[in-house]
Amino acid sequence: MEIIVFSKAMYSTWLYYAPDRIMFDCGEGVSTFLTNKIYAVQRIFLSHGHADHISGLWGFLNTRNSAMGEREKPLEIYYHSSSSRIRKYLEFIVESSNRLRYDILVREIDEGFTLPLFPKEEGAPTRSALDRKAKKSRYLEAFSTKHMETECTLGFHIKETRKRLKEPYRSMSQSDIRKAIQSKGSEEISEYYDQNLFTYSGDGLVMPRSRMENTDTLFHECTFLDIDERKGENHTSLEELVEPVLAAKPKELYLYHISSRYTDSLRERIEKFERKMAENNVKVNVVPPGKICYF
Ligand SMILES: [Zn+2]
Ligand SMILES: [Zn+2]
Repeated sequence: MEIIVFSKAMYSTWLYYAPDRIMFDCGEGVSTFLTNKIYAVQRIFLSHGHADHISGLWGFLNTRNSAMGEREKPLEIYYHSSSSRIRKYLEFIVESSNRLRYDILVREIDEGFTLPLFPKEEGAPTRSALDRKAKKSRYLEAFSTKHMETECTLGFHIKETRKRLKEPYRSMSQSDIRKAIQSKGSEEISEYYDQNLFTYSGDGLVMPRSRMENTDTLFHECTFLDIDERKGENHTSLEELVEPVLAAKPKELYLYHISSRYTDSLRERIEKFERKMAENNVKVNVVPPGKICYF
């Protein structure tokens, strides 16, 4: 199990990404479902201040203070700097909670914010760190999404920086590569690139193709299955995902934030889309509204 997710549009959305102990959004019911797994969470990233993404925070912070577990473990919470709604809500929670036993680091962030996840070092990921540690490093990056005029909203990538041989050297034999390293040095014949291990779209319109490229696991919101059922330009519909996803080709696409109006007809309405994606080697997974899922 790497991901636990619950999502029902308008009611509640939260996703726990176990490899980096990060909770994305914190909708209602999160502590009830996770029970003492809430102690595993080190950081919470909130995509925006709508109630269905933050209403579980109060329960989460209080349960973590009193359930059976490591009650003194610090917690970090990140949200967009313009969200006065989240700021006020957090102030209220902390004020009205009976003395929290653990430290909460609250950090306001903006688009482009990055946070190194591995190796654990302060500041931006560095190449020296990358060289020392198995030629890989991992970081989180926040990006803007288009959801509401009145609200700045964020999505998140978890990226791995990797090192590989530059194009002309990839087809060479081992002995020729060794010679090239001796004459030019290994830095000269290699390059760094970023792979998106995981992308979380938050709420909003379909993300541009560039945000979906080189992605292993793409969680994209899909509130509506038919574009005609959408009122206003706030959320994504299934048919709008076809073109950018087929162009970007993530390894796996997860649809979440689905409206509960589709609970009974979901399977049959999504079948054609799934087939089309499968023909193009994109595996589709669905988070049915109201059902807790383990992936
Ligand atoms: Zn929502
Ligand atoms: Zn929203």
